[in-house]
Amino acid sequence: EKQKLKRLKSIKPVTIDGTGIDLLANIELPSDLEQVKENGATGIGLFRSEFLFLNRNDLPDEDEQFEAYRAVATEMDGKPVTIRTFDLGADKNLKHSVPTAVNPALGLRAIRLSLSETQMFHTQLRAILRASRYGQIKILIPMLSNATEVFQTLHLIEHAKQTLHNDGIDFDEHIQVGGMIEIPAAALSPEIFLQKLDFLSIGTNDLIQYTLAVDRVDDAVAYLYDPFHPAVLWLISRVIQTANRSKKPVSICGEMAGDIQFTRLLLGIGLTQFSMYPAQLLLVKNQILKSNLPDIRPLAHKIIRTAHPEKMHDLLTRLNS
Ligand code: PEP
Ligand code: MG
Repeated sequence: EKQKLKRLKSIKPVTIDGTGIDLLANIELPSDLEQVKENGATGIGLFRSEFLFLNRNDLPDEDEQFEAYRAVATEMDGKPVTIRTFDLGADKNLKHSVPTAVNPALGLRAIRLSLSETQMFHTQLRAILRASRYGQIKILIPMLSNATEVFQTLHLIEHAKQTLHNDGIDFDEHIQVGGMIEIPAAALSPEIFLQKLDFLSIGTNDLIQYTLAVDRVDDAVAYLYDPFHPAVLWLISRVIQTANRSKKPVSICGEMAGDIQFTRLLLGIGLTQFSMYPAQLLLVKNQILKSNLPDIRPLAHKIIRTAHPEKMHDLLTRLNS
């Protein structure tokens, strides 16, 4: 079985009806790239840059970050590399920062932290921009909840570009900027983000946590963490359909993207970009190669509209067989 999957490595991910799908990889450090190549990814859909900041006593400076981003861009050889700005706080903390918030998952994390630690953010933005001339780099903003955060972030990116201009340093002037949809409020108003951003990526790990009010790192409530919950599926389909209608790319980069139970369902509701742990790529590709969109669309939409858990599981079994 494993040998059979290996053979899919250089086969293009295309459905039976001829729809091309992007199969992207999630990485944490440049050292993950070997696995990415082994599994034939069409790009990096999520580079969790905060891992450069963890398990150390100091912060990575601009040059160190630049080297890491450039290494990934160069290795990927023109394929897209989506760098998420640091998603620190909550479940990913700096070594010496003592978490003081009572509800860190609802506190100063991700883009909220970036917008309050603007010097640290500026350093990262400069490093990413400098690396952008070595490949196809995109910037991805985590945990957006409102339009103000988008404006502020775009303003800081403009400022970082200006300082590079002043220093006479080249970068990709047209670098794309996208936002993560991880908060239900954002999933309910994707238009706000589509207006100003180039693409969206749905972070289902956090979207499930916040939609169901289930702490993703608390074992005591893990049994409630349900990606099949109708509210979760409905939010995801709404974001995908709104993005598709506005002709802007949308991907999923949470664990759901790499879980073959969901591949056909997500294809059926219009998803064409999946980003996942490299080890899942060939399994998902195998599923894509066996799927015919005209056949699966009606059933997928029926599943999204079904509020009966048992009926939904029956329909899903039918969809996946
Ligand atoms: C997510 O929330 O789905 C996601 C991809 O980000 P992370 O798992 O790093 O929070
Ligand atoms: Mg997340």
